[in-house]
Amino acid sequence: MKDIMTDRKIKIFDTTLRDGEQSPGCSMHINEKLDVAEALEHLGVDVIEAGFPAASEGEFKAVKEISSLIKRATVAALCRCRKKDIDRGWAAVRDAAHPRIHIFLATSPIHLEYKLRIDEDTAIEMIRTHTAYARSLASDVEFSFEDATRTPHEFLARAARAALEAGATTLNFPDTVGYAVPAEMKEMISYIRANVPGIEKADVAVHCHNDLGMATANSLAAAEAGATQIECTVNGIGERAGNAALEEVVMGIRTRRDRFRMRTDIVTERIYRVSQLVSGIVGIKLPPNKAVVGKNAFVHESGIHQHGVLANKATYEIMSPKDIGVPENALFLGKHSGKHAFSELLEEMGYTLTSEQVDAYFPRYKELADRKKEVTRGDIDALLSGVYRRRVKRIYTLKDYEVTAYKNSASALISLDADGRTHSERMTGDGPVDAGFKAINSLTGQNFKLVDYQLHSVSEGKDALGEATVKLASPEDGKTMTGKGISTDVLEASLIAYINATNKLLQEE
Ligand SMILES: [Zn+2]
Repeated sequence: MKDIMTDRKIKIFDTTLRDGEQSPGCSMHINEKLDVAEALEHLGVDVIEAGFPAASEGEFKAVKEISSLIKRATVAALCRCRKKDIDRGWAAVRDAAHPRIHIFLATSPIHLEYKLRIDEDTAIEMIRTHTAYARSLASDVEFSFEDATRTPHEFLARAARAALEAGATTLNFPDTVGYAVPAEMKEMISYIRANVPGIEKADVAVHCHNDLGMATANSLAAAEAGATQIECTVNGIGERAGNAALEEVVMGIRTRRDRFRMRTDIVTERIYRVSQLVSGIVGIKLPPNKAVVGKNAFVHESGIHQHGVLANKATYEIMSPKDIGVPENALFLGKHSGKHAFSELLEEMGYTLTSEQVDAYFPRYKELADRKKEVTRGDIDALLSGVYRRRVKRIYTLKDYEVTAYKNSASALISLDADGRTHSERMTGDGPVDAGFKAINSLTGQNFKLVDYQLHSVSEGKDALGEATVKLASPEDGKTMTGKGISTDVLEASLIAYINATNKLLQEE
């Protein structure tokens, strides 16, 4: 135990809600952002980057609401190197318990010349004045030197000195384009630490992208060279190939403590649930072989492996599924179990639901228990997928449906409830799903475009639950929202998912 106390603490800066959310197809409804922020706080991250307030009114509002919700973690707002951005960012986070202004400016020759069209001296002056201005508002200011890994070391150190002298409390050196290799990350961080006097007073951060699949390796190499903060996202979502994945960074540090002698404050047993929450909200299924949180990450299929694991788990297992909170799929509760047992199990599984939510889900659980003989933890996860606390307001709900299909033609009669009234419409289509979706669009008067549609079985057996994921785009601004639906009937699941995505898009400002 004493040993653990001497391990160097690495701060986890999560940017799922900024770098993750702004990547294609990952938009979240404000309620979903609040759910994710709350889950991240519960997970133990040190900093939550809540968004880029100058980008839009909706983004500003989300950052402001997250700021008033979060009590323990620092809440950061991203700002360009502009006074107007910083004012807007500060207005959004100033009421947070621990607010941070995060400013960025590119420092690489290619960005200075072609994107910013400024020379080095101008860049240094911009860094100095904007950092000082941010510090006149906030005591916690992070400066990011965008494209740091393609910036000559001497100039990067000069930029770092300027930001530090102007009062920056965290200096971040991003591998913005995912170009660096681990040895270079080490060299860069070592050079900065040796050539920026007073650097030990600030946090040194890295923010790595995964274009060459090296984001986690690069982040850990930087930490070994002395970086004290790693920026990452849940499931590695983010621009292009994504960011360093939180679960990989954290479990890398924990599993290889023997080498790193570092620690994080992440409650690793909550990783799996947060991973599922984010994947459910953005509608991105994890590949089964995804490190740490993939479906197969802990499966031992080959006979030789199974034999080894049975003899001693450590033969092939470097982490235990328990460490990240993978639910055991053991049987539990039958159809005669009461609400109390249901509620206790939810708590044990890590759900934090209000008693109204338990009341609301209990009948659905009973219904499922009646249909299936055995209800597993996987079923419960499916039933509650995406549920944390907040619900997106349901403008439309599915009341009834009737479908006839023959080969390539189908007709669907859909009834939706809205404003206490039932509206019905019949449409024909290429198949039952197509006809149903068309009828919903006609009922809601919307022209939303279907950009993705997936069906998965989320529990085992032939009476398994089907989960449909529908991603719709608004034809006006291209904004996307993901809806999910779960049912033992895949058509019903699909219709519910389509309606959920519609409800979310209708509430986006
Ligand atoms: Zn990034």
